[in-house]
Formats: sequence, structure tokens, C-alpha cells
Amino acid sequence: MNINSQNVEQIVRQVLQEMGGASAGESKSAKSGPIPEKSRVAMLTALEHYDIKEYPIPQLGDDDILVKVEGCGICGTDAHEFKRDPFGLIPVVLGHEGTGEIVKMGKNVKKDSAGKDLKVGDKIVTSCIFYDNPEITMYDLNKQNIGGADVYGLLPDDDTHLNGWFADYMVVRGGSSVFNVSDLSLEDRILIEPCAVLIHAVERAKTTGILRFNSRVVVQGCGPIGLICIAVLRTMGVENIVAVDGEDKRLQFAKEMGASGTVNFKNHNGIEALTEGVKDAFGGYLADFAFQCTGSPIAHSNIYKFIRLGGGLCELGFFINGGDATINPHFDICAKEITTVGSWVYTLRDYATTFDFLKRAKGIGLPMHKLITHKYPLSQINEAHQTNLKMEGLKIAIINE
Ligand SMILES: [Zn+2]
Repeated sequence: MNINSQNVEQIVRQVLQEMGGASAGESKSAKSGPIPEKSRVAMLTALEHYDIKEYPIPQLGDDDILVKVEGCGICGTDAHEFKRDPFGLIPVVLGHEGTGEIVKMGKNVKKDSAGKDLKVGDKIVTSCIFYDNPEITMYDLNKQNIGGADVYGLLPDDDTHLNGWFADYMVVRGGSSVFNVSDLSLEDRILIEPCAVLIHAVERAKTTGILRFNSRVVVQGCGPIGLICIAVLRTMGVENIVAVDGEDKRLQFAKEMGASGTVNFKNHNGIEALTEGVKDAFGGYLADFAFQCTGSPIAHSNIYKFIRLGGGLCELGFFINGGDATINPHFDICAKEITTVGSWVYTLRDYATTFDFLKRAKGIGLPMHKLITHKYPLSQINEAHQTNLKMEGLKIAIINE
């Protein structure tokens, strides 16, 4: 959209409002226009290759929602699928960090998973299809993560085809988690899914009883996950955070996100020197707690050295199998009495907690929106994934035109 058409739209909206006509919300949903008969999807049909295909928009069931996609982030999982298809999903419509507007819904759809009203025009996110699994619920803090559930954007292709967020429209089936997030910006909504991963990780970390306001915390890995980790810690009042990464650009961003110190591991030769570097960054102390946010086995082996006697560790970097890591059980765990927790995905409750986190992050001025460094239209999804593989940016997003 160029500046002129933007101005025209603003003027039209203003005139309508002055006439007492459509409210801002109504004019926004009117923007979606009539629902077309077909929807484009980006179908990964071969390694490193998406085809843009068109499929008819199917009839909705009474519990289903048709959502017009506004945007979707590219996740590390998508990058793995694009490069190697480890889940054997090809052909598949990927995209699970998406959000969009309800354009149509079945007659039984009235409320979202948190009990909020739902109507056409509302902006939503969904995470998974949990059917009637009683172990996955909003209302119990101790329920399991959604690791075993079906997730939109990682579903095998079927007759519906509109199964992922890299598309113009998606069909959200009954039995899915759906949240009305109309009060969040498009960028915030795209960041919900990765942020939920960190809300969960910090909840896991808190179960050790070691993480406190004044804890010295190491965050290793400053990709989107590590950077969001710093942001979550900051919003809960942790101030003493040292970020470890091999890229100065990312470490700079870690500072903007609120890290008090940074260590570039490339400036330290060997694990002893690196440990000294971390200690120096804390003014001569080892960390009370560490978050391991990389998928590198060596990084896992290293991180124990940064932690003090009686400290804690949350390992969340291995979303998929990244191979074995070597540690010394005596020195790394027993002698130091380190409490370790693992973290993977999130619970449904964490997902909803994330909406408030995003508001708090904005409230204390964290530059969350800067995490989205590149935006591409759906038609350029192959280029978007190639940019992602080059690791030049942070979060790459598809923003529908
Ligand atoms: Zn993801």
C-alpha cells in the first residue's frame, strides 16, 4: 500500500466516523471484503521449495471458524522442515505462528478457550487441536504441555488443505484452542507462539526455587528464543542478566532487551576462558541460574561451567533432536548440586499468560517489535525461508498483502 492510498483510507474512515456510520472496528472487518471461493496456500512440495497453490474454501462445520490470515512468523521448526523434512510431512502447508481475522464461523462457536466472546471481525490465534484430551486445559496450572497435540501448520495435507498459516485463509476446526486477541497489534500476535515457549520455560525454571529477583542469570543463545527469554525475565523483575552468543549484533540486541552484560564466546579461547568471561560480566561471580537457548550440544556441555554451586539450569534449546551432548556427571551435576529442568513447548495456560506478558513488555519499553526483522508477502515465501536460513535476521514473518 502506498502513502496515498493509506491517506485516502484514513480520510474515508474519519468521514464515516464523523457521519456516525461504521465504527473503526466495523470498517476494519469490512476491509476483508467478500469471502472468495478459493484460497492460496504455500505448499512445501519438495525440500527448499514451496508452490503457491489454490484450493476451494470448504463448507464450514458448526464448530469451525474460517480465518483470513494476516501474518505468520517463520519458526525454527519450519526451517528444519524446509531444509530436511524431519517429520516427513511433505507435501504440507506450514506456518504455526500465525494470526488473522474471523470472517465466518459455525453456529456453535460462541466463546474462545479463555471464555471471551467471539464474533466475526475478531483477531485470533490458535495453537493446537486438543480434541477432548482432559490433560490439556486452560484451567489447571499443572497440566501437561501441548507437545503431543496436533498443531496447525504441522498437519499432514488432507482434503481441507487449509491447514497452516502460510495461506490466505485457514480453517480452524472444532476442538482447537482459539484465543480472541483483538487487543494486540499484528506484530505482537505473530510473536505470541514463540513467547509462549519462554513463558513456559520460565515457569519451569521457577519450580527449582532458585530464580529470584536478584538472581544472576545467564541466557545462552541470542536468537529470537534467547532474546525473548531476556524479555520475559525483565518483565518479572530479574535485572542481572548476562547474554552469551557468538554474534555482536545479537548481543547488542540482547542489551536493548535488557541484558546487563554480554559475552561473545568467540572472544574467549576454550571453556575456562569463556567461564572467566561470564564471571567477569557478573562482577566476579558465577550465575545462580542459566537458560540454555541454543540447539548446539557443545553449548549444552559448556553451560554447566557458568553455574555456581547449588545453582539451576533450564535447558530449552533442543526443540528437536540435535544429537548427544557430553557432560561430566561428577563435576557438572553432583559436586555442584545443580538443579536442572527441561522445557518444551507450553501448556494452554502459558499461552494465555503470554498475552499479558506482551502488554507488560510494551509497558516497560522493551523493543519486542524489533524482533521481526524481515517481512515478506506470501508470494515470496521461498525467498523468506532462504533469508531465514542465512540467519541474517531474527524473526522473519510472512505478512499477507
Ligand atoms: Zn514455533
